[in-house]
Amino acid sequence: MSKTKDRIRESQLRYRHELGQNFLYDEALLARLAEAAGVTREEDVLEIGPGVGSLTRHLCSRARRVLSIELDERLVPLLQAYMTGQDNFSLVQGDVMKLNLPEVTRDLKAPFHVVANIPYYITTPLIQLLLTAGLPLKSMALMVQREVAEKLLAGPGQEGWGPLAVRCRYFTEPRLALDVPAACFTPPPKVDSAFVVMPFRAEPAVHPADEADFFRVVGAAFSLRRKTLVNALMATLRLPREAAAALVTGAGLDLRVRGEQLSLSEFAAVSDAWTAYRKEQET
Ligand code: SAM
Repeated sequence: MSKTKDRIRESQLRYRHELGQNFLYDEALLARLAEAAGVTREEDVLEIGPGVGSLTRHLCSRARRVLSIELDERLVPLLQAYMTGQDNFSLVQGDVMKLNLPEVTRDLKAPFHVVANIPYYITTPLIQLLLTAGLPLKSMALMVQREVAEKLLAGPGQEGWGPLAVRCRYFTEPRLALDVPAACFTPPPKVDSAFVVMPFRAEPAVHPADEADFFRVVGAAFSLRRKTLVNALMATLRLPREAAAALVTGAGLDLRVRGEQLSLSEFAAVSDAWTAYRKEQET
């Protein structure tokens, strides 16, 4: 029996499925995850969903400081008891999606890492939040469903290439660190998982003239996957056909191209053409 399973059994904790409570229990795996996250003694970590602290302990032994955010108030006394003596650990009880993260993390040394075996019911909104909350992040190392990992790791034209993959590649350089079968969790979830490490780039992968326009164009391009980019831009940005066609050809692309085929630099070229067009219309 593992230490984690023992502690869960002794505390008579009942898993809350609705909070994505699938705990890791294998000490060797936990050590490998903490290592793969690439945290050093001089660096701080924000952990989301520490559960009963199994990964937290390993993070504390590698990092300068670990701040964990846990929603389930029943876990607070268990965590505090398990982390006794770890003076580089602190805990905030609350919902990561509702807390003011810049405020909560203000004492962490920047840039800091996010490391988490995240609750899967908030996977996409949480990644989006982390990418847009304006936090000084060095990397995100996240356990996600295998299917989400494929989306995070996808490149242009590949199956998972979509708004989430574009956003991740824009800010980070994602890589698969470890495949983690469902049996590594207690209770085992219905899907296999993967640990994906996403170090932040020193600057975004491309430099569109207007970042908001860039992400609007990306959203537009993927909103109608089966249509050509011209049709998707017409429908989503409410452009006349000639204007949408001019954005596409102006970016050096074929009129028949579909949005899902574009690379980051091609999205930036279309977005720059759209920014110029938009400004011209405003004057
Ligand atoms: N880190 C532990 C591990 O690896 O064994 C537990 C991971 S478990 C998949 C996800 C944890 O996130 C649970 O402890 C759950 O209570 C917590 N959680 C769920 N929703 C949350 C939220 N919105 N904010 C913060 N924590 C949350």
